[in-house]
Amino acid sequence: MNVPLLDLKQQYQQIKDEILPAISAVCESQMLCLGPAVAEFEKTVADYCGCKCAIGVSSGSDALLISLMAIDIQPGDEVITTPFTFFATAGAVARLGAKPVFVDIELDFYNIDPAKIEEKITKKTKAIIPVHLYGQVAQMKPIMQIAKKHNLFVIEDACQSIGASQDGIQAGNFGNTGCFSFYPTKNLGAFGDGGLVTTNDEKLAEKIRTLRDHGQNPRYYYNMIGGNFRLDGIQGAVLNVKLNHLNKWNEKRRQNAALYDSLLTGCPAKTPKVAEGNKHIYHQYTIAAPKRDQLQKFLADNGISSAIFYPKPLHIQQCFSDLGYKDGDMPIAEKACEEVLSLPIFPELTEEQIKYTAAKICEFYRCG
Ligand SMILES: *Cc1c(COP(=O)(O)O)cnc(C)c1O
Repeated sequence: MNVPLLDLKQQYQQIKDEILPAISAVCESQMLCLGPAVAEFEKTVADYCGCKCAIGVSSGSDALLISLMAIDIQPGDEVITTPFTFFATAGAVARLGAKPVFVDIELDFYNIDPAKIEEKITKKTKAIIPVHLYGQVAQMKPIMQIAKKHNLFVIEDACQSIGASQDGIQAGNFGNTGCFSFYPTKNLGAFGDGGLVTTNDEKLAEKIRTLRDHGQNPRYYYNMIGGNFRLDGIQGAVLNVKLNHLNKWNEKRRQNAALYDSLLTGCPAKTPKVAEGNKHIYHQYTIAAPKRDQLQKFLADNGISSAIFYPKPLHIQQCFSDLGYKDGDMPIAEKACEEVLSLPIFPELTEEQIKYTAAKICEFYRCG
């Protein structure tokens, strides 16, 4: 049996009849950058996320960058984040000349450990970027308490977590802004790059809208330096169609995860844990697997694709060597990098494919 990690062609076939007319309407209108399709998407996605304002931007990476620009992060400022994330989280900080300060993660949930944040706060600390990794919201209650106590901004990297929630509050509503990615492989994927900033602060939203278009307001008058962070009209149209299907797709991912959970009970590979109060949307279904690399090869030999997110933590990446971290500084993130394996979890996966994958994992450990 063949089990791909993701099959976007299947999803496209399901919704092709809705997508093509939506793209065609943008072509006919020739409103290609921002425009009405993006404005409509911003309204419906703000509703979906339960927040006041949503600003479509060019990518998840740019959502992070523009959020940091909007809170005036300057060269020399420090921003606390996790080393166990996609590069863009810390890359956005470094691009502004600010310093990423890494805090190790919690072993059970792979998100930043709130208990280790305060010891890293200095006079230069301006913000915290918690990442809601794999589709699960970080421990936002203690994080927001620390931020409040030390007067810090909070930018949520929710790029993997659209539709996830904690204690009934949706990702993107805890901090000053929430950053989302519509990279095609994400739970809500565009037909190319796209991103979103959410906020409940109307003043901040206004500033982000201005920064998105070079800082001009009114046209050709610049009071601040922004950039080109615009979302394309065609992406807005595609996202408008796909957003209607997101709950169903996320629910399917959750059902797939529940099936894996039950099939892998008692297996040496540990299934993902969900923190109390969290609704996980399984952007990834990530197990902690002893002999991970051998397992991955065994699965590949049996037609099953899997992936490692991420093989090397950010604090020891070459480009951050000037920050002075060394191996052993973030032991939990480093251990996670050696153990994690993400299994196929996409909504269109069949029960047979899940059962086959779980059986092969059990066969590898001879526990099945
Ligand atoms: C995908 C992702 C990003 C970047 O999003 P792009 O749209 O690819 O720029 C940032 N952070 C995390 C955690 C991501 O998963």
